[in-house]
Amino acid sequence: MEKSGYGRDGIYRSLRPPIVLPKEPNLSMVTFLLRNVSCYPEKPALIDADSGETLTFSQLRSTVIKLSHAFLNLGVDKNDRVLIFAPNSIRFPLCFFAVTAIGAIATTANPVYTVNELSKQLRDANPKLIVTVPELFDKVRDFNIPLIFLASKRNQQQFDLKSTPKILSFYDLVDLAGNVTEFPAVSRSVKQTDTAVLLYSSGTTGVSKGVILTHANFIAASLMVTMDQELAGDMHRVHLCVLPMFHAFGLAVIVCAQLQKGNALVSMAKFEFEMFLRNVEKYRATHLWVVPPIVLAMAKRNVVDKFDLSALKQIGSSAAPLGKDLMEECAKKFPPAAVIQGYGMTETCAFISMDSPVVGVRHTGSAGKLAPCIEAQIVGTENSKPLPPNQLGEIWVRGPNMMQGYFNNPEATKLTIDEKGWLHTGDLGYFDEDGNIYVVDRIKELIKYKGFQVFELISSMLTACSYSSSCSCIENLVEYTVPMLPAVFWFFICFINTHQVAPAELEGLLLSHPEILDAVVIPYPDAEAGEVPVAYVVRSPNGSVTEENVQNFIAKQVAPYKRLRNVTFINSVPKSVSGKILRRELIAKVGSKM
Ligand code: ATP
Ligand code: MG
Repeated sequence: MEKSGYGRDGIYRSLRPPIVLPKEPNLSMVTFLLRNVSCYPEKPALIDADSGETLTFSQLRSTVIKLSHAFLNLGVDKNDRVLIFAPNSIRFPLCFFAVTAIGAIATTANPVYTVNELSKQLRDANPKLIVTVPELFDKVRDFNIPLIFLASKRNQQQFDLKSTPKILSFYDLVDLAGNVTEFPAVSRSVKQTDTAVLLYSSGTTGVSKGVILTHANFIAASLMVTMDQELAGDMHRVHLCVLPMFHAFGLAVIVCAQLQKGNALVSMAKFEFEMFLRNVEKYRATHLWVVPPIVLAMAKRNVVDKFDLSALKQIGSSAAPLGKDLMEECAKKFPPAAVIQGYGMTETCAFISMDSPVVGVRHTGSAGKLAPCIEAQIVGTENSKPLPPNQLGEIWVRGPNMMQGYFNNPEATKLTIDEKGWLHTGDLGYFDEDGNIYVVDRIKELIKYKGFQVFELISSMLTACSYSSSCSCIENLVEYTVPMLPAVFWFFICFINTHQVAPAELEGLLLSHPEILDAVVIPYPDAEAGEVPVAYVVRSPNGSVTEENVQNFIAKQVAPYKRLRNVTFINSVPKSVSGKILRRELIAKVGSKM
């Protein structure tokens, strides 16, 4: 095996020590995740930044036990699906754990969904019960599915929760359980291989898909995420969870993994930048997992200087590409903190790789080294042949945190997981010699520029002509090109699809401009080239940079085919709550205006 982890069989293997997976077949993720609680019963586990409520680890466990009995008493059976449709709060993980503890399947949805979007997901997931908050009542009232409200007591008074018998508040639910101190008997029949969670992918590239994840998947992911902390031997971390818990990143990487390790979790219901900074200061947060737009704000917005963020040791980013320049800029602003990047997808419990502060962070724009027990391949996009370090191809991964398949969608499962168990991520990337992975962009979102070859070919022929002063240009052209025509033809055919522009690369460069606050790059149809890159840019408030300045700024740094053909100034870049640029939305908008 090479230093990169690349083996002769074309497989990259993790350079981290392996995790030790529990062997018992009958084991729920909750039993495993809370296995060490008696070692630190009084440590704070969950802190609600919005309401101020705090639960210690022993209270966390006893509440989850009560709730699991309550769900059983309500008639939730093994394998029934329960939808949690709510913003972050400390009650979110409590219900999530309780549902999965009895072998029921927790599923989640984005609280900003419209009724229409929600109804699509409900049709697919078909839950027996919805756990929500009073503020979202209007979106769920007409589905005729029993509801539970995660209302705090204050909210409870504002809503007449008892108005229909189908509605029950969180506190009624806890009371329903009575005086119980152990998980119900059914929890002992839960197998690691049982489905625990049905999570929906973000829908960035199309309709979101239900991802089937088992108890074993979550157990493995939790151990993988905290392996570096284990190696560092550091015990008292405070994580601020502002990322949505309905998404795999918030749920697996922050909630499950961190609580499993005994770290404190401060939950925030919604993202508001100053409030976020205030909470980092107030709770002396040591670790953050965020998404690139938050890193961008931390690096560029002056308001950051008003707060004491000196407790921060690590700012981790994942879910979308984070360029080298932005990593460096952010790291400069928070000298004691390491800025690290991770890579993952819903299909892998949001975890595939991350930088390791244990072995040193270099702010290279890489998403770090493979998580423990993960294998990967980089394969040619045309021929699926495995590629060595520094060669670009599709990223395939395999590991114990990988999904079982897509729910109700065998065709998509077949297209994504091959017969050898490799999950085809649809992402383009490469490894360097040290085993760091670079995620360039999604293959689907690459801009396909087809003019380069013709242009290059003609310009190299003309260059060849200009070297010879004794003959006329035409003679030279004939002399040089006619014998080469078959080769030229094949060169043209072979390379016609290979010149693709990764929008993320150009976005990363744009963000390094001091007068650019945010940017998105999308393809624009072009008669000759097929597609050309164009940028939509948010200028900083006092910035005077012009369209031409921006084009020149990029032109100086990239090959001709990557140059921006147009720049438009906009007020904000469309992004999902999970931090992804919604290029699809902008492309549709631009398309509709054409
Ligand atoms: P859908 O599959 O429904 O279109 P999605 O792929 O955005 O949506 P997620 O599972 O939330 O849904 O996101 C996973 C994707 O996010 C990855 O496949 C990858 O494209 C992107 N991603 C995650 N981390 C990184 C990273 N560090 N750098 C670049 N891209 C990343
Ligand atoms: Mg995806």
